[in-house]
Amino acid sequence: MELSDLQLIIISSPSGAGKTTLTRRALDAFPDLTFSISHTTRAPRGSERDGVDYHFVDVAEFERLRDEGAFAEYASVHGNFYGTSVNELERARAEGKRGLIFDIDYQGARQIRAKLPHATTVFILPPDLIELERRLRGRGSDDEETIRRRLQKARAEIEQYAFFDYVIVNDALDRAAADLIGIIRAERCKRQIQALRAEALLR
Ligand code: 5GP
Repeated sequence: MELSDLQLIIISSPSGAGKTTLTRRALDAFPDLTFSISHTTRAPRGSERDGVDYHFVDVAEFERLRDEGAFAEYASVHGNFYGTSVNELERARAEGKRGLIFDIDYQGARQIRAKLPHATTVFILPPDLIELERRLRGRGSDDEETIRRRLQKARAEIEQYAFFDYVIVNDALDRAAADLIGIIRAERCKRQIQALRAEALLR
């Protein structure tokens, strides 16, 4: 299987839009997809585990990996580095997975799309900015300064929506999850994906 045969589902959103929950729902619905575990220089939050939610590294290690060309994409987000290692794509392939779901920001989405044009990009919108603030505060894990910075950035991130193939408004979790699952299913029925099977019938 080539990297270009992997189904790549990139999910981006301003933080607090419910992307992590939606990503989990999609992974539950598609056991043949795996979550792309990013590297980050930010500190673990709450119940996050190294090697499960992220690979937590310090700045020196991140820069070493970056300089070695280990990342398929990387970006600075909210003052920390985040990156997707090429190794994650290889891992998915080695594990016999059909594809990966990426929880990455719009900068990363653009870089992956530039390298792997068959990637599907999905943007999650919060219903409104007041609700976004409520969710960020409800998480209870970030300090006031962090929340303020994230809210400021949310507007700038929402401006990026036009790059994405699909946009889901997360005003009701069950429907939004159904939308995401529907998108992943529809992408599997794309003519370009099914062409080989159709051609085989004609042989
Ligand atoms: P958080 O610190 O809340 O987990 O993530 C902050 C932001 O970084 C989110 O928008 C998330 O999607 C993004 N992010 C997480 N991993 C990566 C990555 O590997 N690359 C990029 N470009 N962004 C990432």
